[in-house]
This record gives sequence, C-alpha cells and structure tokens, in this order.
Amino acid sequence: KITNHLPTAELQAIDAAHHMHPFTADGELKQKGARVITSAKGIWLKDSEGEQVLDAMAGLWCVNIGYGRDELADVAARQMRELPYYNTFFQTTHVPAIALAQKLAELAPGDLNHVFYANGGSDANDTNIRMVRTYWAEKGQPEREVIISRWNAYHGSTIGGTSLGGMKGMHGQGSLPIPGIEFIDQPNWYAEGGDTDPEAFGLERAQQLEAKIKEIGPEKVAAFIGEPVQGAGGVIVAPDGYWAEIQRICRKYDILLIVDEVITGFGRTGNWFGSQTLDIKPDIMTVAKGLSSGYVPIGASIVSDKVADVLAATEFNHGYTYSGHPVACAVALENLRILQEEGIVDRVREDTAPYLAEKWHSLADHPFVGETKIVGMMASLALTPDKSKRAPFAADTGTVGYITRERCFANNLIMRHVGDRMIISPPLVITRAEIDTLIERARKSLDEAYEIVKEKGLLVAG
Ligand code: PLP
Repeated sequence: KITNHLPTAELQAIDAAHHMHPFTADGELKQKGARVITSAKGIWLKDSEGEQVLDAMAGLWCVNIGYGRDELADVAARQMRELPYYNTFFQTTHVPAIALAQKLAELAPGDLNHVFYANGGSDANDTNIRMVRTYWAEKGQPEREVIISRWNAYHGSTIGGTSLGGMKGMHGQGSLPIPGIEFIDQPNWYAEGGDTDPEAFGLERAQQLEAKIKEIGPEKVAAFIGEPVQGAGGVIVAPDGYWAEIQRICRKYDILLIVDEVITGFGRTGNWFGSQTLDIKPDIMTVAKGLSSGYVPIGASIVSDKVADVLAATEFNHGYTYSGHPVACAVALENLRILQEEGIVDRVREDTAPYLAEKWHSLADHPFVGETKIVGMMASLALTPDKSKRAPFAADTGTVGYITRERCFANNLIMRHVGDRMIISPPLVITRAEIDTLIERARKSLDEAYEIVKEKGLLVAG
C-alpha cells in the first residue's frame, strides 16, 4: 500500500513510472524525482523528508484561506452524507448551488447577479466562449463571434482556455487557437515599453484593441477578455489608465468585457475582486481557485443581468456533469464565510498587503533585480544582468529564472519563475512575521542565484 510512510525514493520511483505531470518535462523529472508533499498547515507545506516549506504561491495561487481548515473538511463530509451529488440540469437544483449563487451575486460588483458553474477556470472560460457567441446570436447578430485576447495571457488549458490564452508555446501543441480568437499585445512596460513613458505605453497598448476591432470589423467582434493583473504571464501590472481605455473602447463598439478573475478573485488584490481594485466593470467574470481556496475543484462564470436576460430566452445547450456540484458548492460557501467573517480580505488590504509591498520593494536594491511589482498579495520581480537598462539576459529566457527558483526550492521557499521574472502569491492569511521569513529566504536565494549566474558567465545582457 502506498502511504506517506514509504521512503521518498520509492514514492518518487512509482510517481516517475506512472504519473504524467502537468506543464513538466517528465523525462527530466524522472532523473531528479518530484518533491513529495505530505501535509500542510497555514502557509506551510511539509515534505516527505520532514522539511517545512513556505508556500509563497498558495499552491497554484488558490489556497487563499491557508491549508488545514477543519471547517471545510467538516462541511464536505456533512454534505457528502446528506447529498453527495445531484445535477442542476433539466430543471432541478439543490441548496448548496442556490446558496453559493446568492452569495456570489452579493459579493460580485455591479449587476453580476447570475452564476453558471464549472469545475475550474479553464472550463469556465470555455463556457464564456459559448456564452458570448450565443448571446450575440440571440441578439440577432450571429456574425459577432470573434473574441479578442492578449499575448501572454493565461486563460486555462482546455481547448477553449488555451485558445483564449496568449501563450505561443501552448498554441504550438494541438494546433490552436480555435478560429475566431484574435490577440493584441500585453501591457508589459518593463519588457516592451522601451523609452516610452509607462502611462503613454499603456494607452498605446489599450488602443491596439480599437485598431484590432476596426481591422476585424466591429460587427464581427463579440468580446474582449483579460486578467485584471496578468498572473501566469508573470504578474504583469498594466500602467495606470490602461483599463479605463480598454473599457472606453469596449463601450464604444458595444463589445462584451470578460474579466478573468481566476487568480485575482476572493481577496487576492485586497478587495473581493480585482475588478474593484482596478475599477473595471465586466459583463462576465471568470472565477475559480480562491472560490474554494483550492480545497475542492470548482469554477464559475458570474454573469451580468444584461447577458443573463438575453440567454434566458433560449436553451443554452451547455453544462458539465459537475456544474454546481453540491460538495464543491458547500465547501466554497464555507470558504467565503471564513474569508468574510474573519476579515481576511480587509486585513490583506489594510495591513498585510501594504507590509508585504514595503518588504517586496526592499528587494529592488539587489544587483540582480530590475523592477519589483505588487498588487495586494500578488507580486513579481524582474531579474536582470543590467538594472540601468532593464536588460534581458543573453541566455535563453528562463535559464536564470530557473536557477533562482531552484535556489528558492533548496531554501524551502516556493517561489515560481515565469521566464526571468520571479513571482509570488502567498495565502492571504500570511502574517507579518511570515512575510519577514519569506523575504529573508527570497533575498538569500537571490544572493545564491546571483553568485551561480556570475560563475556560469550568464550575467550578460542580450
Ligand atoms: N484563468 C486564469 C487567469 C488562470 O490563472 C488560470 C489558472 O491558472 C485559469 C484560468 C485556469 O484555471 P484552471 O486551472 O482551474 O482550469
């Protein structure tokens, strides 16, 4: 029997023999062996060697209330006993789906009052593709099919999610995107802004949307989709003014605005939703991850009155067996109760996020660090061989980021790299003292990586 008590090497060997890891070169992992995580509490993971690891990524940006909350386990067990499953197709419903939909309508801004459930963020975005196209067909404009997204966006890994995302490496596997998805450039001033002032650059990038709409023909464009802060793309924060301009253009051409809040939802930016932090008024919002703090899989599209009213006139031939799964809904509801009643979102906004920001920006004095960015509890820093020029490395993108990530890993800090940017997104319950530990480990890892990069002759601008 396979348990936590088996020796690490044995678990790793079985893992390598049978388990295909997402976003991983399994051949390489077979040589190294995966790190086996056995339990977790708060912001701390424990591995099979007994090491305590500070999880500055909250899993995959999702464990907002932290690990090990018994309340969620209790609710799941209770719900499994009472009603483990029933579907919400064909005119049936149940209390967990009703209660969670009401709660989400209450929390979400504006007239986002309607919830279509999914299993996670990717398939919620698949729902969105079909929903906006069906909306326009119902409005008598079926030719409005095109969705405009941004290069380097991440919207998931299904066929629809990958197509909406702007990751060229993902498009290359599986002949994507599907037809009817178009892209504009991302508002990444640090990497692409050259000598332009950040705000002017942000406006230029937003105005690409208008140019793209004109190129396609406004009568063919259904929607624009964007993450309030690009997460998996490297925690790219758009310059001030960018979102106002995007929204002006969407309104001008009557284009629906889908805001993908899979990462930025449920307190990550210091408000319930990133849309509130950045003053965005979406027609549809994608949520997942922090909705259940990752304890069970669940996602959703939260839909405005405007869109829901039109869809209500037809049968939307779409849904998943587990849309509105009672256990997932019950756990999500309990998670939202904890976030709200314990004042976790308020504490992030008023105390721990400003504290993290001060500490995170203190890393900017490191010779290896070109910029530091942070919104609420999601942050990034750019590694550079030459701070004054915001220069990229001559080595392949990600070589130096990977070395730095490996030093973090060795120092029991989970910090991810996206190319040569380092990113964090810790559980929202992280304390000031834990933030101090995070920053100490990050600085130590940066110091060590810097030495390795120098030794290897990689401290060269490209
Ligand atoms: N959208 C965004 C913005 C994400 O960051 C992610 C996952 O990282 C997804 C969608 C996909 O969500 P899931 O992995 O739950 O399918």
